Amino acid sequence: MRLFDRQDRLLLAGLALAAVVVFAKPLQYVLDLARDVERGTGMALVPALLILIGFFLFHQQGKRQEARTDAAAAEAESRQANARAGELERLVTFGQALGRSLDLDAIRDVVRQHLEVLTGTPQACVIARIDGEWRVLTGAEGAAEQTESSQPQVDEALLQRARESVGGSISWAGSLWWPMNAGGTVVGLVGVPESAGVPFGARHRVVATAATLLDISLRNADLFREVRENSLRDGLTGCFNRTHTVAMIDTELRRVRRSHMPVSLIMFDIDRFKGINDQYGHLCGDAVLASVGACMHDVLRVSDVKCRYGGDEFLVLLPDTPLEGAKQAADTLRRELAERPIRWKDQTIAITASIGATAAKPSEIDTPAFIGRADMALYRAKALGRNCVCVSSEPVVA
Ligand code: GH3
Ligand code: MG
Repeated sequence: MRLFDRQDRLLLAGLALAAVVVFAKPLQYVLDLARDVERGTGMALVPALLILIGFFLFHQQGKRQEARTDAAAAEAESRQANARAGELERLVTFGQALGRSLDLDAIRDVVRQHLEVLTGTPQACVIARIDGEWRVLTGAEGAAEQTESSQPQVDEALLQRARESVGGSISWAGSLWWPMNAGGTVVGLVGVPESAGVPFGARHRVVATAATLLDISLRNADLFREVRENSLRDGLTGCFNRTHTVAMIDTELRRVRRSHMPVSLIMFDIDRFKGINDQYGHLCGDAVLASVGACMHDVLRVSDVKCRYGGDEFLVLLPDTPLEGAKQAADTLRRELAERPIRWKDQTIAITASIGATAAKPSEIDTPAFIGRADMALYRAKALGRNCVCVSSEPVVA
């Protein structure tokens, strides 16, 4: 701590003056003595002393100036280090939040929370390619507005520059764009309108890093969705697997118990499928199964839950559908399958299936019993000669 600062200069001058007054006599005595010595020896002591004092003060002033410059530089450096630490902290927080976000909605929330702080403007936006289409992920203002809000038009020339960009931003249509192109394809762009003040220096690097983090996160979410989908679906037919479907039937039965809506179930099995395998080989059998899967997706409603129950046996859950509707859907499916033979090495192979249908009883929550009734109806269809539909109580022959 300094004893005296700038404001105390006047006080010091006062003290010095007071000291001169107090010690006037001894001073006068010293000066007289010096003059005697000067006279006796011929030396100029007093002027030499004054010159020395002058140079001493000048030297001190220079040192003080140097110390002040050093202090200012150290302060600026410390301010810069603090700013860098702050930016790094914001990026780490953003990265951690993204790391916890495994789907698009969660990523969108994180971007909404952090984008303004990272870019320094509320007008920044993020557009991303979602399910093959460009969408505004967040930030409908500013840069996004210039590209038609929710369904932005992304110019092919901008995409080309984005593909080739290595960490820099692209000036395009009045905005700066930071591409997310880590994997060689452009999955998105962070945009800041130039009118909002262009982020420069460290801020520019922060936005570029944020775009890279977002890029990785979007790709992760995509992979996670794919892995989850694959774990629920059968690769050959594109249908849900048995475990997932049984869980969905459980959920649906509980839902309709509250809503009192009808729900039905269709179970079918390919006729003489083993014979196809034996005669044409298992690869041909696989092609038949794939064709059945495709037919189900073409013929049935999107809301119907299509499942490969095992081997050549399939299950379809029909929400909001009474038994009559399920019977109709089963008939259509049976007819379509019969009308779509597959071509295998210049041979035409007919596909037929036997189908059982049932509807949930009011307040039924017993999934095995529900599936069991569809299964029994299917067995009756087989017993009736195959290529036909039976409902759980009465047979309906095609
Ligand atoms: P049915 O009319 O009585 O149903 O006669 P089927 O020959 O179809 O008899 P079944 O349904 O019992 O035969 C099922 C066959 O499905 C037996 C098995 O070899 C075959 N299979 C099961 N899974 C696959 C598969 O993933 N690929 C192929 N190619 N065949 C499979
Ligand atoms: Mg079969």
